[in-house]
Amino acid sequence: TKFSDLNLNTKVLKAINDAGYETPTPIQAGAIPPALEGRDVLGIAQTGTGKTASFTLPMLSLLARGRARARMPRSLVLCPTRELAAQVAENFDAYSKYLKLTKALLIGGVSFKEQEAIIDKGVDVLIATPGRLLDHFERGKLILSDVKVMVVDEADRMLDMGFIPDIERIFGLTPFTRQTLFFSATMAPEIERITNTFLSNPERIEV
Ligand code: AMP
Repeated sequence: TKFSDLNLNTKVLKAINDAGYETPTPIQAGAIPPALEGRDVLGIAQTGTGKTASFTLPMLSLLARGRARARMPRSLVLCPTRELAAQVAENFDAYSKYLKLTKALLIGGVSFKEQEAIIDKGVDVLIATPGRLLDHFERGKLILSDVKVMVVDEADRMLDMGFIPDIERIFGLTPFTRQTLFFSATMAPEIERITNTFLSNPERIEV
């Protein structure tokens, strides 16, 4: 498989080419086509397999197709740690360089005011840790009713860190009709339960 066979947005393909990627990794080849068709994806993959691009590339291609009226967030990426969220944000910037999309990185250690100013301008994508996202929600600053694609990255680490109740709550704040791209290195029973509850007929890819 080549990236050009995957139906990605041409501007996303150009950015991938700039990054020097030649062929999709197995998780990318497996996850990108069903994600672009609007299906839920359950990716079982470790760090280092290229999993970040396997959700970021289809997410950007889907975002490029439409435009929100009031620029409410249309995608939400949840990560267990600040560091991981910052890495996803860097990937987002690199792969979206030819698209006019905006993001807010919602992590601890930065003032709420600073993050709220960015949210207020209108963003396409939220990249967040669960606790910080819920803090913003409780401050009344976040509308999640326009979220079309939700990503959960490193769910096994979310479980280890006690974030599963937060994740369940956040699922409930997004539309029932959203698309979910869910990644975990392992499938603990609790993770299996969450995916059975919140994913709809997912394409399961294990690498
Ligand atoms: P990840 O598993 O998402 O943390 O990615 C691991 C590393 O692989 C990152 O440095 C990516 O930039 C790189 N990478 C992701 N996809 C590809 C690809 N298709 N070809 C070459 N490098 C890649």
